[in-house]
Amino acid sequence: MKKVVKFGGSSLASAEQFVKVGDIIKAEESRRYVVPSAPGKRNPGDTKVTDMLYKCAELAAAGKAYAKELGKIKNRYEEIIKGLGLKLTLKSEFEEISKKLEEGAGPMYAASRGEYLNGKVLAAYLGYEFVDAANVIRFSDETTLDAPETYRLLAEYLKGYERAVVPGFYGSLKNGKIVTFSRGGSDITGSLVARAIKADIYENWTDVSGFMVADPRIVKDSEVIHTITYKELRELAYMGASVMHEDATFPVSQVGIPINIRNTNDPEAEGTMIVDKTSKVSKYTITGIAGQKGFTSITLEKDKMNSCIGIGRKALQAFEEHGVSFEHMPSGIDTFSVIVHQDEFAEKEQQIIAQIEESCEPDQMDIDSDLALIAVVGRGMKSARGTAGRIFAALAHAHVNVKMIDQGSSELNVIIGVSNDDFDNAIRALYNIFVEAAL
Ligand code: ASP
Repeated sequence: MKKVVKFGGSSLASAEQFVKVGDIIKAEESRRYVVPSAPGKRNPGDTKVTDMLYKCAELAAAGKAYAKELGKIKNRYEEIIKGLGLKLTLKSEFEEISKKLEEGAGPMYAASRGEYLNGKVLAAYLGYEFVDAANVIRFSDETTLDAPETYRLLAEYLKGYERAVVPGFYGSLKNGKIVTFSRGGSDITGSLVARAIKADIYENWTDVSGFMVADPRIVKDSEVIHTITYKELRELAYMGASVMHEDATFPVSQVGIPINIRNTNDPEAEGTMIVDKTSKVSKYTITGIAGQKGFTSITLEKDKMNSCIGIGRKALQAFEEHGVSFEHMPSGIDTFSVIVHQDEFAEKEQQIIAQIEESCEPDQMDIDSDLALIAVVGRGMKSARGTAGRIFAALAHAHVNVKMIDQGSSELNVIIGVSNDDFDNAIRALYNIFVEAAL
């Protein structure tokens, strides 16, 4: 059994957290490859090391003094090293960072040092080999990962080490220039390592006990989802629910390696298993609920629309030509609506409306920008009778007016449009009918 374990910034924010991480790794022989983030926040008012490093790069680029900010970062690592009782010094590393900043190394290089240095400390603490991600994570340009080359390099390097630490978040171009993923990208590194070494499981350790059925800011003490499929996760993540970087699932989902979301501060909790397929039925018929405010619906009405061939295409073309993607398109006999993100639409609205007026000649066009969308997601809905009935009964009971309904063709989700003001209330009503009522 081989596991890749990734630890987020809050799991490695202090010496105390490092000790928890060390205990988790040593508790299982199989936890052989470790991917750390940079030290995160120790308390809500704290600053992440990554943000401090970006600030250094910004100061350096503006020709301002950054030594004080870099000194603060050095102190954070020294505190961790001292707290762990390690005989390690990062003096030469910090000298090198100063030199590179002086030479104009830029924000990607600066930010990557958070993971690089944390990887050094963690490797020393665990007695594991340190493998610099610059040697094994390959980008073809500053925004594109070279996945085949990365898998090849990782497999080749890691073959030589029984146990290793590979820092998250960065890699390099062929010419050695450091490149980072977008924020939160250590999750991607973990997933790449898991795939390259053909891990049995990718454990992603964070500060929550898994993926919640509903947003805990709206539903206090939400239950945790025990098992979720990649498809369900994508539906929920698309609607804003997230515990991981959205690009982190692809490398492992393509080859069927499960991800287990775990909590460093509660290692006994089983967390959430993210799998390709499962025979496990979800406990509550639905798997999760997620949603977002800030949508606009543009509704077109036209007499005998059913026989106006091409009207849908013409309307969508107006959005396409102005670079606005549409989310849903519920329709009736003489009417249809196009639902878009409010902020994307707002910039181009006059041009889009004018084009639709011209190409579709609708009798009426209504714009409603007070729309929130809620996705009720679950592989179990396909075979459960009465799910839609329960959804709408719960919403009616909570006095929520349903403005739109769209059931995905895969029967994996039901999307409901409500007004922004009803959003929280609707989520709580849905949670109560499926989860509370089942407990
Ligand atoms: N340290 C980086 C960030 O704060 C990357 C990561 O934590 O995954 O975004």
